[in-house]
Amino acid sequence: MDKNKYDVIRLKMERTAEALRDNNMYCECVDSAEEALDVIESLMNDGDTVTVGGSMTLFEAGVIDMLRGGRYNFLDRYTKNADVQGIYEAAFTSDVYLMSSNAITEKGELYNVDGNGNRVASLIWGPKSVIVVAGYNKIVKDIEEAKVRVQEIAAPANATRLGCETPCTKTGHCMNCSSPQRICATTVITGRQRVQNRIKVILIGEELGY
Ligand code: SF4
Repeated sequence: MDKNKYDVIRLKMERTAEALRDNNMYCECVDSAEEALDVIESLMNDGDTVTVGGSMTLFEAGVIDMLRGGRYNFLDRYTKNADVQGIYEAAFTSDVYLMSSNAITEKGELYNVDGNGNRVASLIWGPKSVIVVAGYNKIVKDIEEAKVRVQEIAAPANATRLGCETPCTKTGHCMNCSSPQRICATTVITGRQRVQNRIKVILIGEELGY
C-alpha cells in the first residue's frame, strides 16, 4: 500500500485505539496479521480453553490455524460433527473468546449485529477474556456509520457466506427483511466497560473480513 495512504490509516487506527482505551478496553495496533498473531499469543496462556465467534477475519488472519496448533484447549466449532450448541454454551466458561467486530467506531465503541446471538452474548458476559481481532476496514466514524456499514457490507456478505435466503443476498444491501433466515436479529453496542481490559482489541493495518 502507498505509504502516505497507510500513514493516514495508521493515524485513524491510533485515534480509535485511544478511544477504546478510554472506554476501559485494552487495545493494540499492529501493521500485519502476522504481528497480530504474536500479540494474541501473548494474551493467552498454554492450556487455556478457547472458543471463537463466527468470523472471516479469524480465518484470514491465521488465528484459527494458530488455535489448532495444540497449545490451547481449542473447542473447534468447525470440525466435522462438532457439538456446536455445546460449544456455544461452553463459551461462557471459557478462558478466552476470540471474535471480530462488525464495526468499531472512532469514539471507542464496538458495534455488532447477530442472528443467533451467541457471539454478542459471549462478548457481553461469560468468558474471562475476549479478544477482538479487526482489520482497519472495520473502523467507522460513529454509530450511524457503523449501522450503514453493517447494512451495506457486513450483513449482506455474511448472509451470502452462510447461504441464507435473505433479500440482501440478491440486492447487495439491507432490505430490512422478515426472512426466517434474517441474520440481523440483535444489535449490541459495547461502550465503556466496568471490567478494565476484559475486552482486548487488536487493530490490524490490513483489510480483513467484512
Ligand atoms: S435485515 Fe435481512 S435483508 Fe437486511 S441485512 Fe439483515 S438479513 Fe439482510
